[in-house]
Amino acid sequence: MSSSKPSGRPPRRPIDTSEVWKETRALIRAHRGALILGFCLMLVNRLSGFVLPASSKFLIDEVAGNARGDLLLPLAGAVAVATLVQGGSAFALSQVVSVAAQRAIADMRRRVQRHVLHLPASYFDNTRAGVLISRIMTDAEGIRNLVGTGVVQLTGGLLTSILALAVLFWLNVPLTLVVVLILAVFGGTMAVAFRRLRPLFRERGAINAQVTGRLGEGLGGIRVVKTYVAERREARIFAQGVHRLLRNIASTITGTSAVTAFSTICVGVVGAVIIIMGGEALLDGRMTLGDLVMYVFFVGLMAAPLVQMANIGTQISEAFAGLDRIREILNVAAEDAGDRERRPVPRLEGEVHFENVGFSYEEGVPVLRDISFHAPAGSTTALVGPSGAGKSTLIGLVMAFHHPGQGRVLVDGMDLREVRLGEYRRQLGVVLQDNVLFEGTIRENIAFARPGASAQEVKEAARIANCDEFIHRFDEGYETMVGERGVKLSGGQRQRVAIARAILADPRILILDEATSSLDSESESLIQEGLARLREGRTTFVIAHRLSTIRSADTILAMEDGRIVERGDHEELMERRGLYRRLYERQHGIFTNLFVNPGEELTPVGEGPDVA
Ligand code: ADP
Repeated sequence: MSSSKPSGRPPRRPIDTSEVWKETRALIRAHRGALILGFCLMLVNRLSGFVLPASSKFLIDEVAGNARGDLLLPLAGAVAVATLVQGGSAFALSQVVSVAAQRAIADMRRRVQRHVLHLPASYFDNTRAGVLISRIMTDAEGIRNLVGTGVVQLTGGLLTSILALAVLFWLNVPLTLVVVLILAVFGGTMAVAFRRLRPLFRERGAINAQVTGRLGEGLGGIRVVKTYVAERREARIFAQGVHRLLRNIASTITGTSAVTAFSTICVGVVGAVIIIMGGEALLDGRMTLGDLVMYVFFVGLMAAPLVQMANIGTQISEAFAGLDRIREILNVAAEDAGDRERRPVPRLEGEVHFENVGFSYEEGVPVLRDISFHAPAGSTTALVGPSGAGKSTLIGLVMAFHHPGQGRVLVDGMDLREVRLGEYRRQLGVVLQDNVLFEGTIRENIAFARPGASAQEVKEAARIANCDEFIHRFDEGYETMVGERGVKLSGGQRQRVAIARAILADPRILILDEATSSLDSESESLIQEGLARLREGRTTFVIAHRLSTIRSADTILAMEDGRIVERGDHEELMERRGLYRRLYERQHGIFTNLFVNPGEELTPVGEGPDVA
């Protein structure tokens, strides 16, 4: 079978922490300026935080013990200054670091979105938009904790702990050894706990993406949902998803609160040890009262960040999981990744050759078999056949959305595999059944393919496509907003905007997917007129439903079950009495919806005007 068959799905792989680490290091490197500044601020902040607890020793041993009243003012002054510095540096720290984190998030979102847009079309067949949206928006958010507060708190906490530990050893070595032992047990337990929690966080992101995706589909297709009275079913599916999310979050909450509870117990044990060993040292005269009070303060200074790290650890686990999911997407090769090495594409004549083309989406299920035909430059090829015959797939090969498993698709003699995708696609134009308009003005929508086009060019394209007729009826003309927050255009009007868009793009190869739904005869003839002008001088492939289009085609390819079973023009194929004629008679006979002539009424058989 073909080795180039697009699998679409991202390659499954175990969580690769080294990859995630690499990504994290890259992130940290990219924002190192802010992080170094943040680190310095953190150092100042933590050191100034030591002044208050350290002053307690002097207060007790010197002021109280040796009646040194003269020390009161300097001590108070030192504490006041230190507190000011501490407050100021905390403020500056969050400014610097939080902004750096937001910048990192923005960078990541841009990068992932750009990459996603360049993934092969087949990737999108297998991945729902909701999932990708969640990767770009939610998962990217998580890296805030890696670049921002997370790392800085982590390093700051670590730093505080080490400094405080040094002070503790200076005050009492054996006591500190025991305290460190207890804290090591605590740390070990936390590490194990977070290893268990990380997959849960990973799963949470996946569930979230799935639920969001389905929610989006349900709301996007609300008319279908309502038509089939599927509201309750949709509600049930959503409720199940939300419940899975709840169960996941509940287990992570159980995990994290267990860690918190365990940390409280550890603090208690440390307290008891200090009372016993510290009390003995005090009685033996190895420690002064000031030393003991200072010791208690510094144990707090050392342990607090460790406990806090429980939370930071959770955040970092989440961020890692998100980054891992993002990496999974970034690892899928973009379709134009090798464009540089491929052949540049000059302005095309538009001659298309299919040579014994075979294609399958899934291994062993051929969708196109042995397709060969030649479409000379400027010709129109109509594809007809029952649905599922492979017409859209064939068009997909012309657009280089997929590459054939067997055989070759040649355009002007160049194998589509070997040409630069961007340069090739720039010479394609499409008018589809369901034409997509983007939020924006009519002008912007027409100029979608060439945003730099002048107002005059846009107007000219609109005129050729018979758009100006309805555009002039809007008060704001070309500047009328369309889409969700603007006017709604009818199917026929959208179609004409799409034709104007294609005219402006001036493609060499044109893809038309004719609407199967019927339009009123007036817009039908306006559209046909626009399409006829658009087709002039361009190689056109059309999935045809209307007799007028089919009659005007140079070649009709009648497809069935992935093969071309008949080829020729309308008259030749009618004489053959094969698939084409069967299709024609069946569809034309029952409903003129398919194979309809512009201007023809849609009349079910036996209900013509003479009967009515
Ligand atoms: P037509 O346009 O003639 O209706 P298509 O080219 O859409 O036919 O489909 C041909 C066959 O390929 C159908 O059996 C369809 O189920 C299958 N098919 C289409 N798209 C995909 C896809 N993305 N993945 C797997 N199978 C597909």
